[in-house]
Amino acid sequence: MEHFDVAVVGMGALGSAAAYHLSRRGARTVAFEQFELGHVRGASHDTSRIIRTSYGSPQYVRLAQTSYRDWADFEAVSGERLTTVTGGLVFIPTDGPFAASDFVSSLGEAGVPHELLSPDQVHQRWPQFSLPPHVETIYTPDSGIVHASRSVAALQMHARVNGAVIRDRTPVLGLTPDDTGVVVRTAHGDVHADKVVLAADAWTNELLGPLGAEIPLITMQEQVTYFAPGDSDAFDRDRFPVWIWEDEQCFYGFPTYGEPTIKAARDRSDNLMSPEERTFVPSPELLAELTSFMSTTIPASGEALRTVTCQYAITPDRNFVIGPVPQHPDIIVALGAGHAFKFTPTIGRILAELALDGRTADDISTFGVASAANPAGGIDHRPVLAH
Ligand SMILES: Cc1cc2nc3c(=O)[nH]c(=O)nc-3n(C[C@H](O)[C@H](O)[C@H](O)COP(=O)(O)OP(=O)(O)OC[C@H]3O[C@@H](n4cnc5c(N)ncnc54)[C@H](O)[C@@H]3O)c2cc1C
Repeated sequence: MEHFDVAVVGMGALGSAAAYHLSRRGARTVAFEQFELGHVRGASHDTSRIIRTSYGSPQYVRLAQTSYRDWADFEAVSGERLTTVTGGLVFIPTDGPFAASDFVSSLGEAGVPHELLSPDQVHQRWPQFSLPPHVETIYTPDSGIVHASRSVAALQMHARVNGAVIRDRTPVLGLTPDDTGVVVRTAHGDVHADKVVLAADAWTNELLGPLGAEIPLITMQEQVTYFAPGDSDAFDRDRFPVWIWEDEQCFYGFPTYGEPTIKAARDRSDNLMSPEERTFVPSPELLAELTSFMSTTIPASGEALRTVTCQYAITPDRNFVIGPVPQHPDIIVALGAGHAFKFTPTIGRILAELALDGRTADDISTFGVASAANPAGGIDHRPVLAH
């Protein structure tokens, strides 16, 4: 049987970053993807993802600071410009479940430049927004956009350049831990690896379930819509930031990016379905809800031009899962809970460190895998603000 140091399951953003970092460190790496590379059935396709340090939790702010450094490192290595700084606004209604003070203290603690703005101050600087009076706004100048599909393709390409073997259209059918590692069973033959990085997102429990190690996971079809403003120049990245509306219902959006449209979506619309049940058909009800929000909050956002579906796999509290399975420590799980793209190169590096060194210097203390012996998995169960 072929042997590798590490086998990666899943070549979305997180698995691709793990394969890149593993191979960069010289590990003999094989990576499996059940579909073609760059497919649209998971969470890592399409164009833009928000990058930001503005979280209401110090742990995520520090991890995001590290991610900016890791993106810069990968951009330098690859010679590709993947990130674009636009500045970012997080709108927090004062009668909602989230508190602007959490952001202010987390960002302040980490020394991240930020401002707390009133609706009038927002309107003076970005007249495109129309906010009700009871909203507090956090502005962070470092927020911006990372290109999703280009980043994933670049990570895969550089993993290959470093010697990683990538086997696409090769579903992993099962993982069988043994005394020296894990047998990875595929339709095209089995391999043995010292460690497995499981980055299968919505499909994670298909491989953990037979090992009696399922993690709490909710899967849903999400959708993003591209609006066509009459004056697209007013939504240029120099004049319009990325934004997030944090309330019971969360919405988010972007300036123009490669086309004269602005993308917006609702985060976590609870359109629950498993990967097998996915329709790939946008929900007209969710589109109507988003269009109504946009016409109120960004009145010049224009007509909805097209809608694209994608998939969320989230933990109940939106915390990441990053760490070894307690009963099978040679299997290391990475799950991004619907807000991990901004952390992609950092999570990939951490996964490589866990696989090769057994530890990481980054703080992943609350991302442990829950098990019967450790039901909380180290998680403190404070809900995390996505997106
Ligand atoms: C619409 C949308 C918008 C988002 N916006 C943001 C944002 O603005 N900012 C941000 O930071 N994050 C954002 N996210 C979250 C972020 O994109 C995801 O957290 C991240 O892409 C997850 O990557 P992944 O590799 O874990 O999952 P995926 O991309 O789903 O990859 C998992 C891969 O594993 C493969 N696989 C599964 N099982 C097997 C198997 N048995 N054998 C072989 N292969 C297998 C799958 O085919 C898939 O390719 C967004 C997500 C979505 C869907």
